[in-house]
Amino acid sequence: MAGRRRTYRQTCTHTGCQAHRDIEYTARHELDTVSKTWKCRKHDKPDEHLSPTNRERTTILELHPKYMTGRQYTYDGYTNERKLLDYFWGPEGDPDKAHHGIVSGPGFWTDAKNFPPGTRLTVSVRIELPETDKEA
Ligand SMILES: [Zn+2]
Repeated sequence: MAGRRRTYRQTCTHTGCQAHRDIEYTARHELDTVSKTWKCRKHDKPDEHLSPTNRERTTILELHPKYMTGRQYTYDGYTNERKLLDYFWGPEGDPDKAHHGIVSGPGFWTDAKNFPPGTRLTVSVRIELPETDKEA
């Protein structure tokens, strides 16, 4: 018999923040994987949150090739050669955090497989506030 669905309300761990999320669960153990230090979107990546006082950001991604390593079976038998899996975008110098072959945002998308390793993708955003009326 299916258990009753319950809701667990989690509040942002940033001091004083009241933002929250509701997580549905049936069994208590489902909550074991929930982060105990969850922060709302605004406090999780405060530098990424654009505001009237934080109006510009530039992020640089690097294209990283990923290889399959270890003993593999091929048509020619077992081999220890590393095999190229695919190309992924990720932080500069940090191939372990490169997980996406396709990266997109408003106005663009790009597929890593079209570029050579070491390619850099620079994404810039800028908020332009309306000019204030100087006549009063
Ligand atoms: Zn928060």
